[in-house]
Amino acid sequence: MTNPSTKPRDLRPNEMTIVEAARALRARELTVRELWDACATAAHAKNPELNAYLELFAADDTAIELAQKRIDAGDASPLCGIPLAIKDNILIEGKIASAASKMLENYTATYDATVIKKLKEAGALFLGRTNMDEFAMGSSTEHSAFGATRNPHDTSRVPGGSSGGSAAAVAAHLAIAALGTDTGGSIRQPAGLTGLVGLKPTYGAVSRNGAIAMGSSLDQIGPLTKTVEDARILYDTIRGIDPLDSTTIPDGLYSARQTAEHLRIGVPRHLLGESVNADVRAAFDATLAKLEQQGHTLVDVELPTSGHALAAYYVIMPAEVSANLARLDGIRYGHAARGAALLDDYLLSRTEGFGPETRRRILLGTFVLSSGYIDAYYRKADAARAVLRQEYEKAFESCDVVAFPTTLSPAFKFGEKSDPVSMYLEDIFTVTANLTGMPALSAPMGTVERDGKALPIGIHFTALHQAEETLFTIGNAVERSR
Ligand code: GLN
Repeated sequence: MTNPSTKPRDLRPNEMTIVEAARALRARELTVRELWDACATAAHAKNPELNAYLELFAADDTAIELAQKRIDAGDASPLCGIPLAIKDNILIEGKIASAASKMLENYTATYDATVIKKLKEAGALFLGRTNMDEFAMGSSTEHSAFGATRNPHDTSRVPGGSSGGSAAAVAAHLAIAALGTDTGGSIRQPAGLTGLVGLKPTYGAVSRNGAIAMGSSLDQIGPLTKTVEDARILYDTIRGIDPLDSTTIPDGLYSARQTAEHLRIGVPRHLLGESVNADVRAAFDATLAKLEQQGHTLVDVELPTSGHALAAYYVIMPAEVSANLARLDGIRYGHAARGAALLDDYLLSRTEGFGPETRRRILLGTFVLSSGYIDAYYRKADAARAVLRQEYEKAFESCDVVAFPTTLSPAFKFGEKSDPVSMYLEDIFTVTANLTGMPALSAPMGTVERDGKALPIGIHFTALHQAEETLFTIGNAVERSR
């Protein structure tokens, strides 16, 4: 069983996967400088149209030369010399990290996020910081304070969000791979809508130190890549316990997860209903049928509380947002405006600094945590979260992964979901993995046609805590079935 990504193809360097580029670098078919130049040139040429990057960094000659030296000396790190795109909410020392907000427009990071430190140690290079929904709140990248990102498959459509810039950069070959963050689907949904692989690791598998917090009990950093193998490489590099993030977990905390060659795929058919577009549903069923032909088995699973997951998420997440963003008040941190009195300083700074979606969520979060309402909203949502986790653990007694389409439909047009609730519905299948802390992966499952354009869609799998290996196994099987 050959992985498609290991076959040498006739490609321009920026079109390569991590595996292909690492091989070409070691075969002396390519230098680190040539690989960097190919990505940087493509990025400069295409970015005015796509707005995938908020900033493209100048070449770091020292890092490029060092990576080449390491490769020449036989260094085996697959990320050595690989140019990556980094979401604008992950800190790189000396670079701006704005979370696509006016509030942090001029904030320069004073240290590297733990994931960046690990990538630097692996010899990776950074092309630039990518556009996103402000503070990672959204499913389309339309909520960026610096303009929307376009989907390279159809520029009249969104790339998904909130990691839409990272997704568009990789899908358009303006980077070999990228990092995003995922609080309710922000890696997996844009991966699905741009034809990439996206992984949300187990909560605590990857350090959040140096990631600008949105919902601290939900956030994880993870990869957006062209193949499952590339996602594994990035994940293996960035994961691990970190003294700077006390929520990181040691290997084997949830017992060793063995992965069988043939998996039991749980399908919650009762949840797929009428809301999934007919052609997305057909592609989903066809992919499952091909997985069955490979020897995997399909089992029906019931997840009765899943219907309430989105509501629980949209209570818990804004509650955490309202707390996390409180420090950005123009006095302690962030955009500072000055008014007639101290109260005006706060009001002006926060009104000018935050966009409308961010303000909506701060208000919502403050409300659900207020003393009169915390029992009715926040505590209920938290209870639902516990039930969801139990239900999933029960379902995993009869299956190894749970499958959904990543989204109900392919990429939508700009402005199509201007009603916030219709935008929130984009996350219906992805939020549960964040609420339960379980790992989840989206892999491409072909395209559907809209307005004469072939638009990518994804298939989504959730597994038990620390069962990323099972997700890679099923993701590889999906790749082989295409
Ligand atoms: N789209 C979801 C939201 O708006 C998820 C965002 C995310 O994962 N960062 O909250």
